[in-house]
Amino acid sequence: MQRRDAIKTGFSLVGLLAAGSFVYKEYANAKPVLKLRPPAALDEDEFLTRCIRCGLCVEACPFDTLKLAEFKDSGVGIGTPFFTPRDIPCYMCEDIPCVVECPTEALDPKLVTKDGALDINMAKMGVAVVDEKNCVAYFGIQCDACYRACPLIDKALWIDYKRNERTGKHAFLLPIVDSDYCTGCGKCEIACITDKAAITVLPRDMVIGKVGDNYVKGWVEGDDAKLKDVDTKMHLDSKKGIKYLNEDEL
Ligand code: SF4
Ligand code: SF4
Ligand code: SF4
Repeated sequence: MQRRDAIKTGFSLVGLLAAGSFVYKEYANAKPVLKLRPPAALDEDEFLTRCIRCGLCVEACPFDTLKLAEFKDSGVGIGTPFFTPRDIPCYMCEDIPCVVECPTEALDPKLVTKDGALDINMAKMGVAVVDEKNCVAYFGIQCDACYRACPLIDKALWIDYKRNERTGKHAFLLPIVDSDYCTGCGKCEIACITDKAAITVLPRDMVIGKVGDNYVKGWVEGDDAKLKDVDTKMHLDSKKGIKYLNEDEL
């Protein structure tokens, strides 16, 4: 190998090592980010297949809510859109431009369509969760910042009035989230007055449980349809009962 080629190879190796160490450093500094997707995102696996990382939803968002994940945003899928409500929440645009602009229906308009029209209130980007230990309303201080900020006030977020037994003469005004209505927009989270928000939007699959079909809510019309194919008659073996009673000395 000639000296010139050797130097060239040496430079290439140094370049590769530098690039490698940069990649490693970025990887080491990567921070896990919650996957809060734009409105009407398909289930995560399907979303990752459909999203072509074009960034059109990000460009369409008038509030700069959406970001495309970079290498440092660990766990989101590089190039895919997400948002961080404590920085910028979703302002729930009525015309939902991010969804309209998505060319692949990774943001599926059907998920936010009601009676033939777009309805942002159907969005399910996440669900808000209250940290009762750090929410000052649970200290007995009157704060309804999150409640007032909620676009679905008294539906997604309502106030539960409770007597403050500690003082005996004050009331607690406690924020309560209804996950049936909460869109996960995060306007409550950015409005929260505590140093680190005491109400936080999390991905729905992290928060929402599943009770199982064996539980029937008798007070919900139609819920007993779950019992359609279930044998609910009691099957007692009367002979077995008698035998047991007469088997041993009492
Ligand atoms: S609904 Fe509006 S604010 Fe929310 S992500 Fe879409 S474009 Fe942005
Ligand atoms: S995320 Fe907060 S502000 Fe948005 S709908 Fe849910 S409770 Fe209301
Ligand atoms: S804004 Fe924060 S501190 Fe105030 S009631 Fe809501 S969650 Fe609690």
